[in-house]
Formats: sequence, structure tokens, C-alpha cells
Amino acid sequence: MKIIHSIPEMQQEALEQKKQGKVVGLVPTMGYFHEGHTSLMQIGREQADYLVISLFVNPLQFGPSEDFDTYPRDFERDKKLARKYEADCIFNPSRKDMYPASPLTRVKVHKLDRYLCGRSRPGHFEGVTTIVAKLYNIILPDLAIFGLKDYQQYIIIKQMTEELHYPIKVIAGPTIREEDGLAMSSRNKNLSSEERQAAPLLYRGLQNARQQFLNGEKDVEKLLNTLRDSLHQSPLYRIDYLAVVDGQKLYPKKHAQRGDVIAAAVFLGKTRLIDKIILE
Ligand code: AMP
Repeated sequence: MKIIHSIPEMQQEALEQKKQGKVVGLVPTMGYFHEGHTSLMQIGREQADYLVISLFVNPLQFGPSEDFDTYPRDFERDKKLARKYEADCIFNPSRKDMYPASPLTRVKVHKLDRYLCGRSRPGHFEGVTTIVAKLYNIILPDLAIFGLKDYQQYIIIKQMTEELHYPIKVIAGPTIREEDGLAMSSRNKNLSSEERQAAPLLYRGLQNARQQFLNGEKDVEKLLNTLRDSLHQSPLYRIDYLAVVDGQKLYPKKHAQRGDVIAAAVFLGKTRLIDKIILE
């Protein structure tokens, strides 16, 4: 497995692989790998001949008061895991090379970034789409794989990829969870043991709300109350947002229907957790 830090070297390497007729796959990440990441690597390994894992904690997608500095990092461990999952290459550029200065050129997907995390984290998705567009331009992958855990991110990236005519197939991987239902996330490491104990209430609440929907309840307020009831079992939760949104356009709904998504963002202490469940 190659480890490439330089952008021109990565461009050269990816071009070389494509010249040989290889299908190039990309899994963009911010590192500190868990099974959510490795599940995407497995999909990539099955579908691509040459698999690149990019590892870059992207400052552009963090707000000024967010956790860029405390975001967990462990490059040595990540290298071992990427090797174990048979990646061909880790692309790990420096911040200075990716952003020699605050970038004047940015990619923004309108409308879809108005809701959910886009609303509570202004500029976040512009940071995400800008870095993904840069990675696309450097690596020119044939396919790119993203997790459904970050559902809004996936929808926005799919839109960007289509509308900017990138000849790239965007593939979604399912949300991977701990045994108690907590969606895996690099940020889970920052939960205290008390917070970690309370963390499964989020997914349990989403499941309860989905069950209520399947039993015939369509009123979004009632579904969200069910989710709230679950979170209120612990005093540790602070709710950022709870919403039922259209599964493709992401606008909020008053009456739920199949294909909609119940999405939640909460704080446990300083750690922000997001999760969602599709009503299907
Ligand atoms: P991150 O390193 O958090 O930026 O995530 C890199 C990729 O892994 C993104 O496409 C995420 O959606 C995906 N991912 C993160 N957590 C999970 C999870 N629990 N299950 C599936 N995919 C995930």
C-alpha cells in the first residue's frame, strides 16, 4: 500500500492506474477509522481495481467554534487498518498543500444545504463539497463511496457529482452500528462513560418513531414526540434538531410518507451526534 502526501504525485499515480485500464475507487475520510469506514473500504475493494482512501481532516468544513482541534487522529492505526482492508493507496495531503490560503474557489450546492445540519452548521457543506471536488479532480476516480450515516452529505454530494458532470459513480454504504445501536463515529471516542451509556437512546427513539409510522401514524409532531420521549430518558441530551424530511429534496414535512427520513442531531456533553432512519 502506497502512502502519498503530495498532490502531483497522487495525480500522476491515479493517471497511471487509469492508463492501465484500472477502475479507480475513492473513499474520502477524515481518518480515525472504525467499522463504518472499513465497510466502505470493503465495498471499494469489491468494485474497484485500484482503491484510494483519502485521509484529511478538512478545516473548511468545521465552524470556528467546532471541534477541528480535538477531532481524533491516529495515522499509524489508520495505516494498519487500510492495509488490512487491502487499500492500494492512502492519500494524505497536508493542509498547506490543500489550502495554501483560504480558498476563493468553493463549491456550493444550493437549497439542499438549507435544512438539517446545513442550518445548524453554516458553511459546513460548502466545505465538504469543496474538498470532495478537489479530491475528485486530483484522483479522477471512476467511483466514490460514501456512508448513509451522513445522509445529507450523501444527497448533496450526489447532486454535485451529477450537476458538475463528473463521470463518477457515487455509491452509498449502509450505516454501521455498535451492538447497542449507536451509529459508529470517530467522535464517539470523545463521549464520557456516562454519555456513552445514554447514547443508544437516540437510535432507539428513531426506531420507536419508525415503528409508530409503520403502525399508521403520519403526524410528524407525534413521531418527533416519540423520539423526544426516548431522549428525555437521559438528562444529558441537548437537542440540536429533530425533523422528518423528504428523502431526496430534504425539505421538512408535516405529514410523513414512505421514503421520508427522520433525522436527528443532538449533543451529549460537547460531542455532537447525528443519526437518521429511513421510513421504508
Ligand atoms: P468521516 O471520516 O467521518 O468524514 O467519514 C468518512 C466516510 O465514512 C463518510 O462517507 C461517512 O458517511 C462514512 N461513515 C462514517 N461513519 C459511518 C458509519 N457508522 N456507517 C457507515 N459509514 C460511515
